[in-house]
Amino acid sequence: MLEHLQPLPADKILALVAAFREDPRDDKIDLGVGVYKDASGNTPVMRAVKEAERRILADQTTKAYTGLAGDPAYGAAMRDLVLADSVASERVAAVATPGGTGAIRQALELIRMAAPDATVWLSNPTWPNHPSIIKYLGMKMAEYTYFDSATREVDFAGMMADLDQIAAGDVVLLHGCCHNPTGANLTADQMAQVITLMQNKGAVPLIDIAYQGFGDGLDEDAKITRQIASAFDNCLIAASCSKNFGIYRERTGILMAVAKDSAQQGLAQQTLAYLNRQNYSFPPDHGARVVTTILTDPELRADWEAELEETRMGMLVLRQQLADELKRLTNSDRFDFLAHHRGMFSRLGTTPELVEKLRAEHGIYMVGDSRMNIAGLNAQTVPILAKAIVAAGV
Ligand code: PMP
Repeated sequence: MLEHLQPLPADKILALVAAFREDPRDDKIDLGVGVYKDASGNTPVMRAVKEAERRILADQTTKAYTGLAGDPAYGAAMRDLVLADSVASERVAAVATPGGTGAIRQALELIRMAAPDATVWLSNPTWPNHPSIIKYLGMKMAEYTYFDSATREVDFAGMMADLDQIAAGDVVLLHGCCHNPTGANLTADQMAQVITLMQNKGAVPLIDIAYQGFGDGLDEDAKITRQIASAFDNCLIAASCSKNFGIYRERTGILMAVAKDSAQQGLAQQTLAYLNRQNYSFPPDHGARVVTTILTDPELRADWEAELEETRMGMLVLRQQLADELKRLTNSDRFDFLAHHRGMFSRLGTTPELVEKLRAEHGIYMVGDSRMNIAGLNAQTVPILAKAIVAAGV
């Protein structure tokens, strides 16, 4: 049987990690992998997470199964964090999932069950797992223009022209904040236009929110998600706790389906539980319990928010330092986009050849599409990167 398997292409980011590890240069800089790193290059366990884990270890009396949707308290806490009071809680169905990836997978399976002919529209570019899972599930997909490689901002006219072609019932996948891989995001006014267009077309929004708190703040980053949830009869929201709680390996996410009314919510809730059952039965609990413990305890929550805010501000400072240094070296403002972008990533917008040149000649590792992880920098490496970008002729 196994002889019939076909070799699969190597994961480019994991190959980059291996190449970085083997590079003997002392001054090499890793801007490849998608995890947050502090100034010393570590991905720390957040203080509130440590404390929540300590309490769980001390107080937990059973490891019996939770429910197919996970612990309802987790669903309620996450609904609050992401949606606040933008929709009535009776309209929201929710299931815990293994990470944001699990939530996206379940969202797509739900779409396939409810609307097998719908096309799922993805930004070009988007997080590569989006098209990969859609293709694997055998669903229809299409791309809408997103990134303008000249300005390194959103090509809004191109995006609207492409979205004008969507059919009623099609699904549009939007990044809730901190677009991965570009770092370029829509303004509030542009988002309002996209919402109106999607409403006129009868589209269903699917929001992937994996970086709430990494861009402009916890509430600010959820604004688009809340706006959409309140503007449509139906929408799907896949949220990840990997980044904002720093619990990548605990696999903690949630899929929320906003329904038209409570009857529809019941149907959606039943279907989501069914989908969990088919794929892995009960979702992982530890990360979800950590998140619930933090969000429902005022002291822990305040500490988590403070540490998340430090993380966010740190990345903003690095963005500004890099933009300023490049302005100084090039005597131009063509790299100002780095300060406008939000989240962990920025797409430098250069060719694969120059990305390779930065690696070979300067020991700077970024993904081939020129996505840089800003959190891979620190105050010492910003000037080194800026100099290399200019020397390579980006
Ligand atoms: N969506 C986007 C855009 C992401 O960047 C990520 C993480 N790389 C995820 C979803 C899912 O993350 P996880 O499954 O680790 O929670």
